[in-house]
Parts: sequence; structure tokens; C-alpha cells
Amino acid sequence: MSPPHFHWTGTGLSHQGMVRTSNQDAFAIDNDHGLWIVADGMGGYTGGQVASALATTAIMDHVRAVPATAPQEADRLSQATAMLSHAIATAKTAIQDRITKEPDLRSMGTTVVTAWFLPDPVPSMAIAHLGDSRAYRIRDAHLELITTDHSLVQQLVAEGHITPDQAHDHPKRNVITRALGLSFPSTPDIAVHPLNPEDVILLCTDGLTKTLTDQDILAVILEFRNTPEKACQRLIDCANAAGGIDNTTALLITPSRPPSS
Ligand code: CA
Repeated sequence: MSPPHFHWTGTGLSHQGMVRTSNQDAFAIDNDHGLWIVADGMGGYTGGQVASALATTAIMDHVRAVPATAPQEADRLSQATAMLSHAIATAKTAIQDRITKEPDLRSMGTTVVTAWFLPDPVPSMAIAHLGDSRAYRIRDAHLELITTDHSLVQQLVAEGHITPDQAHDHPKRNVITRALGLSFPSTPDIAVHPLNPEDVILLCTDGLTKTLTDQDILAVILEFRNTPEKACQRLIDCANAAGGIDNTTALLITPSRPPSS
């Protein structure tokens, strides 16, 4: 069992890239509540930015508002599902309310990937996501994707119509099948992943994963293992050096042992 005093700390960075004129990605970090969020907005010039900001804020506010003394579900998956599905539903309502006030924003939407730290009985990370923003776990010098994209190409791969390599260059690789917005199904996938003491979690948008290979991403994280700020900066720099065709966001959640008293 992992030492109970272990905790995880998030560090994030976002950049508009070399082509886009605005950054519609958003991220949010609350290390005290163990909550980390990445969102990739879409829909019109300002819509994407509004949607990703509304989503990250609503999810943060929902989780922070639940008192630490609230009764906990015995089962961690039930606990994570109750908390994160409500938080994401709140975010969808916030987006709908804004569209009601500003109908010009009706096409806006956003992906979201959220990590929520559960300390007991063993340290675990609950992950909820919608769309093609991803969570990876880095363990024993391996990078493992722990979310499944809600995207057309992922569906085509799962059904055996195309290979993962073909998905990478597919003309419809940007079509997502779930998101927060009026025109998408918004039921998140939620899972709980027990953590080893050295595990690192990466949350990111497709600006990173459609530009860099898994090997590129892993090499940067291992090289800058003890300086996550530098790792995030290098990931953004590498995405931009490879063309920077999209906004890029990288958020690393790394283990840290508080100073012993
Ligand atoms: Ca994107």
C-alpha cells in the first residue's frame, strides 16, 4: 500500500500555438482539493473560449462547494461518479444558460478531462472525460493512455474500419462524438485508477497528441521528471516546433512527499 502521506501536485501550461489567433483551451488547478481540469473549446471565434472557461469554472466550483465532512460513498467509483457526473452536469447547465442569454454562442462546446484525487483507502485518481482531450499515466518509464477518445476516428478504429495509424492522418480526425454543448451527447466516462507512489498523470488537449508521438511526450516527461514546469514548457515548445497548428495544453500531476515533521 502507498504511504498515506503521499500527495499529488498539478502544474499546467497552455499556448495558442503558431497558427491560431486565440487560445480556446483552458485549464484549472486546485492542489488543495486535488482537482485538475483541461478543456478544449470549439465553436466560433469567441464561443470556444467561453465554453472552456465556463466548464472549468463550473466543475471547480461544484467540487469545492461540497464540504469535506459530506458523507462519502463506500465505493470509490460510486463516489467519483456521484461527484464528477454532477460537476459535469453543472458545467453543461452553465453553458446552456449562457447560450440562452447569448444565442449567437449556440454552436459553442468544449471537451473536458478532469482528474480528482481520492486519498483513501489507497491513493487513486478518478478521471472523467468527454471528447478527445486525454489523460495518460506515466509508470515505470511507460506512457499509458487511460482515456478513450470520444471521436469518430476512435469509433472507426474500434469497429475495425481503420488502423490507429490511419486515424492519425484521417481527414475527419477532429470530429468528436461527445462534448459539453447543445449539439453533443454529454455523458462522461468516469473511471478510478489506483496510483503507485511514483505515478505521474498527464492531462492534455489534442494540440499536443496530434502533434507529438507518445515517445516524444514520454521522453520530455522523463527528462524533466523533477521539474514539471519545465516539462510542460518543453511539451508546448515541441508542439510549436512541430508546426503548432492548434492550441496546446499540458497539465502534469506529479507525486510529492510533504516535508516530514
Ligand atoms: Ca484542439
